[in-house]
Amino acid sequence: MCKNNNKEEILALSRKIMPGGVNSPVRAFQSVEVAPVIVESAHGPYIKDITGKEYIDYVCSYGPLIFGHAPQFLIEEIQAAAESGTTYGFTTPHEVELAELVIESYPSCEMIRMVNSGTEATMSAIRVARGYTGRNKILKFEGCYHGHSDSLLVKSGSGLLTQGVPTSPGLVPALVEQTLVCPYNDEEALAEMIRANQDEIACVILEPIAGNMGVLAPHEGYLEAVRKLCTENGIVLIFDEVITGFRVDYHSAAGVFNIDPDMVCFGKIIGGGLPVGAYGGKLEIMKMVSPVGPVYQGGTLSGNPLAMRAGIATLKRLKSNPVIYKTLEENATYLNRGITEAIQKYHIPAVTSQFKGMFCLFFTDRPVSSYDDVMKCDTELYKKFFEGMMNEGILLAPSQFEAWFPSTAHTKEVLDQTIAAVNQVFAKL
Ligand SMILES: *Cc1c(COP(=O)(O)O)cnc(C)c1O
Repeated sequence: MCKNNNKEEILALSRKIMPGGVNSPVRAFQSVEVAPVIVESAHGPYIKDITGKEYIDYVCSYGPLIFGHAPQFLIEEIQAAAESGTTYGFTTPHEVELAELVIESYPSCEMIRMVNSGTEATMSAIRVARGYTGRNKILKFEGCYHGHSDSLLVKSGSGLLTQGVPTSPGLVPALVEQTLVCPYNDEEALAEMIRANQDEIACVILEPIAGNMGVLAPHEGYLEAVRKLCTENGIVLIFDEVITGFRVDYHSAAGVFNIDPDMVCFGKIIGGGLPVGAYGGKLEIMKMVSPVGPVYQGGTLSGNPLAMRAGIATLKRLKSNPVIYKTLEENATYLNRGITEAIQKYHIPAVTSQFKGMFCLFFTDRPVSSYDDVMKCDTELYKKFFEGMMNEGILLAPSQFEAWFPSTAHTKEVLDQTIAAVNQVFAKL
């Protein structure tokens, strides 16, 4: 047992008894070759590690923390919830209330099921889409991440019209072959793939704004084209809004682009920082789900009262304060402007990418509009930048391909400090 807060000791023990010392690979900081941060506590925009060093945090748990760490109203809500019991295995009014809040905000989501993670949400949505259409194949896009379920842990093979290939051992080839992969932001490739697999594709799943290959917005008309192709071919269109849901707008990406998917997946923000996920969609499709329909899906801790109450408190606050979305966008824009100026000043081969409150810095000198463009980024340069920023007290995701998530707790002062640090680090790159 580690009796103290000795970082070396904890690291050594963690690596001995947990794969890579972590419960999610990115936390091992492998791609940046820096010792990982071990957190003691966090508040607002700050994370403090066990050595006592404090950082301004832009990871914000990869998206859930729209108000920053440990906001008072959520602490109180979660404490109050815990006092009434932490899980029951029976229905609570809170589950119904959160379901209603989500549904009210999302016109094409008429019925919803709560689960415990984004992975579970996408995995279940795909099962439902397959059950509903009676088709086996699914289609995803390169660079979009939907969690780690077998069908989705797939990248494209070489050449355009190939079956998916597994990105991990342990996947059954016969299952993975049912996953087709297309380039994001390319409607012609999608049309061709659909033609080549006529009447075989159950669903198309995508991040309406890609947030797992940095931040990559759909080009003008792309989502409309995807919607049209799905409608014409009887394919269930699933928006994975695990990141974008309640982040880009209270009505999520579907609201921003005014497009109705047939199904939607949520996670991250809707749990207010507690483990949660949800999938929903049109009534006809969701009626396939057990016990109303034949598609089985369940969960011991699903609809957990702590997560539900944190989610309700979060969504209510967002709903009654639309100015929050203006603030989030202003914060990202402010950061974008400051960093763009620094890029020009120090002639850094980098470009910024922003969609409303989502931001990212790509180390490439070319504009980024596809997965291939993203893959041309200089990850060695990112590594240096990341380490430099850490030394300046700014914590970014330990990977070039993650978004930055400035929260409402990232004040102008905090953003100015960040921009000053970027200048410092760029000067030495
Ligand atoms: C994070 C994420 C997931 C997976 O959610 P987990 O809670 O990590 O399982 C799925 N889809 C997208 C778009 C995500 O960003």
